[in-house]
Amino acid sequence: MLYKELVKVYQGLEATQKRLEKTYILAEFFKSIDEKEARDIAYLVQGKVFPDWQEAEIGVSSQLAIKAISKATGMNEEEIIKEWRKLGDLGKVTEEATKKRKQKTLFATKLTTEKVIENLRKASSLQGSGTIERKIALVAELITLAEPIEARYVVRTLLEELRIGVAEGTIRDAIVWACFGDKIGIKYNKEEGELELKEEQREEYNKYIELVQQAYDLANDFGIVLEAARKGENALKSINLEPGRPVKVELCLKVDSIKEAFESVGRPAKIELKYDGFRMLIHKTEKGKIILYTRRLDNITNQFPEVVDFVAKHVEGKSFILDAEAVGYDPKTKRYRPFQEISQRIKRKYEIEKMQKDLPVEVNIFDCLFYNGKSLIKEPLKERQKLLEKIIKPVKWKIKIAEGIITDKEEEAEKFYTEALKKGMEGIIMKNLNSHYQPGARVGTWVKFKPTQEPLDLVIVGAEWGTGKRSGWLSSFILACRHEDKFLEVGKVGTGVKEKSEGGVSFEELTKILKPLIIEQKGREVKIKPKVVVEVAYQEIQKSPTYSSGFALRFPRILRLRPEHGVFDIHTLTEIEQFYTNQFKKKKIK
Ligand code: AMP
Repeated sequence: MLYKELVKVYQGLEATQKRLEKTYILAEFFKSIDEKEARDIAYLVQGKVFPDWQEAEIGVSSQLAIKAISKATGMNEEEIIKEWRKLGDLGKVTEEATKKRKQKTLFATKLTTEKVIENLRKASSLQGSGTIERKIALVAELITLAEPIEARYVVRTLLEELRIGVAEGTIRDAIVWACFGDKIGIKYNKEEGELELKEEQREEYNKYIELVQQAYDLANDFGIVLEAARKGENALKSINLEPGRPVKVELCLKVDSIKEAFESVGRPAKIELKYDGFRMLIHKTEKGKIILYTRRLDNITNQFPEVVDFVAKHVEGKSFILDAEAVGYDPKTKRYRPFQEISQRIKRKYEIEKMQKDLPVEVNIFDCLFYNGKSLIKEPLKERQKLLEKIIKPVKWKIKIAEGIITDKEEEAEKFYTEALKKGMEGIIMKNLNSHYQPGARVGTWVKFKPTQEPLDLVIVGAEWGTGKRSGWLSSFILACRHEDKFLEVGKVGTGVKEKSEGGVSFEELTKILKPLIIEQKGREVKIKPKVVVEVAYQEIQKSPTYSSGFALRFPRILRLRPEHGVFDIHTLTEIEQFYTNQFKKKKIK
């Protein structure tokens, strides 16, 4: 397809804030494309060239992009940076530079979506010497072929910052409109900006929304989902788990008492220790390959060779997907360690053997989603648990089944909870024994019960360059919570960050991580792409007109980085509103 066609869609999407309008534009586009284009188009409308579950990144930094823009347009680098500061968008800078470019090409070859995908995938796969030059050449080639407006989106795509405001939910709905809209009989009224949906159609509509959502939670790939949806309902339903392709994990709701927990999950319930480690999904493919993923779908197989070994030796089965928590322990004292102390293992790419010795982990398995060619997510939890007992040969400090009990009595649950805290656990997780496994969902069939007021997981969206002894470092970070697909500010924080890397988060470390994510700079203030999640403690939530969420945190303090959390895992505005209201309830009781 000509890239121009896609650019028209991008422009339409960028021009409206209305979600229904965006859905309509996308749905019409999805209807118009060829079968064989569906996969890649689904990635491109998300501003990506890979499906969500693939960890590959395009890997072009803004610095590198500037060099490529300069090469393709003849504009010098300083000038580009100056314009970038002014416009706050390298895409627009490139568009303007392309209009004025010194050597004008005749646009003999037109840019196609295939070419954009090809060059950006190539850029991502490059390794070894000469990588930078080759990446610059690939990007520069695209900009050279692009007309000005195309250049805007090429650059934004490669920086993974498309800015057209299309969230996962909009793509899902657009797939429903495009592929099942006629069948349901829905109509979008363009003038009114409304979806015409009769009462009797609503149920049918929701059914398809759920169907597409479920397919997406299993596949984590809108390419696969769009392709299947175009073939029809059966193709969509036949999307299944596949060992080797990561799946979104089921999540817990928070409860404030054991009574509330039972109300949510029913009696009797499975009660398990809530280990303070990190989620690990263990896949064994039909070919016998063992692959480990985090809950963010990152592949961490290379970082944990000993776990691969435990699984090979202690879990029976030709193919499977297991859900587990890996917990660190002290090899000398044989006590569990808090997550922060072992978190570095997740990203560590070197000295793996030393890491294994110094920071060993124990794998606690609590679920099985797929076994010997068959998906088990529609089986009740109690059946899946029975299977675990059969296939795992447990060995303490290596691999075992998560510790738990089944009870319908609050006293027993409370006793288990007190014991859990004594053992240094974060709390307990209670699960509905008859529930299906629901990938990606936080629906109350699993609930967590922990003792204290929870700190918040928030994302950094801005910062200020420090002065005096902090000059050269980013200090004072702006935090945001999530509201649907937007990030709303909830305050500023500088406390809790150490001066030097001496254990804990330091200004140096944060600056290193955040600098490549700067998207705009005005004076000392910078805007940062929302990617880095931090855990923040605070004394109180207050109402505040200063921040876009309407709330501010009193005495916020950064506790730690949350590299295992993605931006969609952070606390939402609704949760913050709830915490705000709960504060008063608690105060009254005192
Ligand atoms: P939170 O991160 O506070 O929302 O708590 C949910 C996390 O607890 C899950 O994502 C798991 O990583 C972790 N966890 C620890 N023990 C268990 C368990 N027995 N069952 C499920 N999740 C667990």
